Amino acid sequence: MSSIRRITVPIPIRALGSANVYLIDTGTSRIVVDTGMTADAIPPILESVGKERIEYIFLTHLHVDHIGNASFLRKRFGASVIIGKGDAERIRQIQSRPDSFGILLAEVFRESGVPNEIIREITESHSLMRNLSTYADFKDDIEVNGELKLEDGIRLIGNPGHSPGSCSLIIPEDDSIMTGDHVLPGITPNISFYDKDIDSLGDYLRSLPATAKLDITNVYPGHRDPFRGLRNRCNEIFQHHISRLREVYNIVAKPSTAYEVASKMRWSKGRSLMSMNTTEQNFAIGEAITHLVHLEKLGAIERKPVERIFRYQVSGDFPFQVDASIL
Ligand SMILES: [Zn+2]
Ligand SMILES: [Zn+2]
Repeated sequence: MSSIRRITVPIPIRALGSANVYLIDTGTSRIVVDTGMTADAIPPILESVGKERIEYIFLTHLHVDHIGNASFLRKRFGASVIIGKGDAERIRQIQSRPDSFGILLAEVFRESGVPNEIIREITESHSLMRNLSTYADFKDDIEVNGELKLEDGIRLIGNPGHSPGSCSLIIPEDDSIMTGDHVLPGITPNISFYDKDIDSLGDYLRSLPATAKLDITNVYPGHRDPFRGLRNRCNEIFQHHISRLREVYNIVAKPSTAYEVASKMRWSKGRSLMSMNTTEQNFAIGEAITHLVHLEKLGAIERKPVERIFRYQVSGDFPFQVDASIL
């Protein structure tokens, strides 16, 4: 049996409050899973790791609340940093052109009909843009392309969607999985675009059934408490997206921009897009865009540019059953 220790570290993202770091001891090697965001995470991580060495630092995905301190810990312990290939490539892109993500975000939002003032507020306050230094000295050693086996039966598998190279770590003998933000309890993982015209929700809706099929009991997520029952949680999230797709499909019975769709969608706690803070607005508009792009890829809706702003409109049948399930 491996031992799994959870280290909860604070993060300056109000909606989440904290992130989970895990220390796995397999008997032959020790693995740190994710590394928090700010230097506040270092003392609790070092205290848990103690004086012994760690062999691997596995990063579930590239978001700043999961890979801060990775460079520091890599140097300190001489451990090998493992990350999904898609995320490693994205980090190299950010390193060679730090402004590339901000430019992409602004361009996609402009085409989505988002007012300039809101685009400016969102790009200025975006956690990636405010934490570019996290990526400046980042270096990985091993990149996961699909699947990777480590010692003691431990497997890493790619599950793109939340990020292009998002990965989970499986410990078969403990019936356990570390999912990062791919599967979370209580909150639906944010699915936003990671490039222009890439169907990230399509990636995610393909990853979820594959994850459900693993049928693992103990789930150790990137935020909130560990829980039991991977299959059911994957299905709940899958069904959430199908009903979201239905809602978006109904809205574009009348031609609409993605921004208009986001303004009309129902958000938790009855909030409106305009009452949200900029981080929430970014998530909401991103969610509208990914659902529209997915419906367009499936041929259910089409988009037409009107003065360089896309308007979406229904062009085919809704592609899912009302009771769609992956169980
Ligand atoms: Zn994330
Ligand atoms: Zn996260």
